[in-house]
Amino acid sequence: MKAQPKASHYINGSFVDDELGRALPVIYPATGETIATIHSATENVVELAIEAAREAQPAWARLKPVERGRILRRAADILRARNDELARLETLDTGKAIQETLVADPASAADALEFFGGAVGSYNGDYIDLGGSFAYTRREPLGVCVGIGAWNYPIQGAGWKSAPALAMGNAMVFKPSENTPLSALALAEIYTEAGLPDGLFNVVQGYGDVGHALASHPVVAKVSLTGSVPTGRKVLGLAGSLMKHATMELGGKSPLIIFDDADLENAIGGAMLANFYSTGQVCSNGTRVFVQDGLHDRFLDRLTERTKAIRIGDPLDPDTQMGPLINKAQHEKVLSYIEIGKQEGATLHHGGAVPALQGFEGGFYVEPTIFANVTDTMRIAREEIFGPVMAVFRFDSEDEVVARANDTEFGLSAGVFTRDLPRAHRVIADLQAGSCWINNYNLAPVEIPFGGYKQSGIGRENSLAALAHYSQIKSVYVETGDVASPY
Ligand code: NAD
Repeated sequence: MKAQPKASHYINGSFVDDELGRALPVIYPATGETIATIHSATENVVELAIEAAREAQPAWARLKPVERGRILRRAADILRARNDELARLETLDTGKAIQETLVADPASAADALEFFGGAVGSYNGDYIDLGGSFAYTRREPLGVCVGIGAWNYPIQGAGWKSAPALAMGNAMVFKPSENTPLSALALAEIYTEAGLPDGLFNVVQGYGDVGHALASHPVVAKVSLTGSVPTGRKVLGLAGSLMKHATMELGGKSPLIIFDDADLENAIGGAMLANFYSTGQVCSNGTRVFVQDGLHDRFLDRLTERTKAIRIGDPLDPDTQMGPLINKAQHEKVLSYIEIGKQEGATLHHGGAVPALQGFEGGFYVEPTIFANVTDTMRIAREEIFGPVMAVFRFDSEDEVVARANDTEFGLSAGVFTRDLPRAHRVIADLQAGSCWINNYNLAPVEIPFGGYKQSGIGRENSLAALAHYSQIKSVYVETGDVASPY
C-alpha cells in the first residue's frame, strides 16, 4: 500500500519539499506499514508559506465576497466529485472504516466550502442610526490565519478552518496533524483547480514545533487549533501573549443522559454513535452515559447485544464498521485506560481486548468496550480516553444527574434522550456544554455553531459564528452636520 504525495508541503500553488526537514513517516493504522514518508517543515518552509499568504491576501480581500464564494463553491463540487478517491485516502491516513469516510469526511469539508461560499455574500456589517449622523460597521478580514489540525477528522478540519477564513478574505497556512498529513494536500490542489489564487491556502507539515513556529510568527493574526486541552493551553497562552486572535476546539468527557421514558433502540443507537464512531476518536463523544434506574439493566443488555454485532476489521472493506486506532501510542493509551478501569473496580461488561484479525496483526485495533458500575470519581469517568470505551452510570433523579453531568472540567458536548420534551429542554439548558443534542448524538451540520464551554475551548467553528471569528469589526462614524467643537 502506497500513498506517497508529490511533495511534503503545498505553498503558493505548488508542491514544495525541503529534505533537510525531519522525516515524517505516514503509517497505515490497520497494518502498521509505512505508506509514505514526508518531511517536517524547516524554518525556511515556514517562512515561504507565511510570505506567500501575506503577499496573496490583500488582493483576495478586495474581491467581492460572492466572487470569493464562487471559488469555494466550485472547490466543494470538485470535493464531491472526488469523494470516493478522497475517502480512500482518508481511510489510509486515519484507519477509519471506509463506510464512514465515504459519507462523513470529504463530504463534511465540501459542506463547509459550500456553506461559507454562499453565506459570505450576505454577511455584512450594520448601519447604525444616530439621529442625523450615522455609523456603519465593516466586517474586515484578519489577514494571515494559521490552522492546526487534529488527526481524527483531517480533511474535515482543513475544510472547517479554511472555508470561513478564505470566505472572509483571509489567507491560511494550515498544518495538519503529523499523524494524518495527506488529505490537506489534496484539498490544496483542489482549491487551486477551482481557481483559488496562489498563496491563499498553504499546507506545511510537521510536529508541534512547526505549529509553535506558525502560531508565534509576527505576520500571523489568528490561530485556530483543534487538539487536546494541554496543547490548547500552550497555543492559547502563546496567542494571548502576542495579542493574536484564537479559536480553540479541544477535548471533552461529555455526558449523555438517558431517561426511563426514552425510546430504547434510539437511545442505544445514540450511545453507540457517541462512543464507537471513528473508533471512539471523536472530541464530542458522550463517553459518560448516564442511564436512569428503571431502564439501566435493559439498556445494558440490549447495548451489549448490538455492540457484539459490530464488525471490526479491514477499513477498506465496505462491510467493516470499526477500524483501528490512529497509532501505537494511542493504542497503548486506550489499553492502559481499560486496565485502569478494571483496577478501579468498574465492571468490564464487554470488550476490552485486542481482536485477532488475520492480515492485520500489526494494526492498532481494540474491541468496542463497555464498562458498567462506573462511579464519578474513577479516572475512566474523568479523563478523556479518545478510544471506543463507554462508561455507563446509573442515576435516579433529574437534579442528581444534571449535577453529576456538570461535574467535569470539560464542556464540549452533552446529550439527552427522553420523550418528555419540557424535561429535554430544561435539562439541556442546565448542562454546561457548547454543542448539545436532544434525542440524537454527534451530528455536526455546518449550519450550527460547534465548540466548547469550560476547558473544551474558546470560539466556535461552523455557522455564521465562524465568520465572526475570522473577521474584525471596523466602526465608521459619519458626520452629516457640522463639528460641534468647544475650541
Ligand atoms: P494534539 O493536541 O496532540 O495535537 C493537535 C495539533 O496540535 C497537532 O497538529 C499537533 O502537531 C499540534 N501541536 C502540538 N503541540 C503544539 C504546540 N506546542 N504548538 C502548536 N501546535 C502544536 O491533539 P491530537 O492528539 O492530534 O487530537 C486529539 C485531541 O483533539 C483530543 O483531545 C480531541 O478531543 C481533540 N479534538 C477536538 C475537536 C474539537 O473540535 N473540539 C475535534 C477533534 C479532536
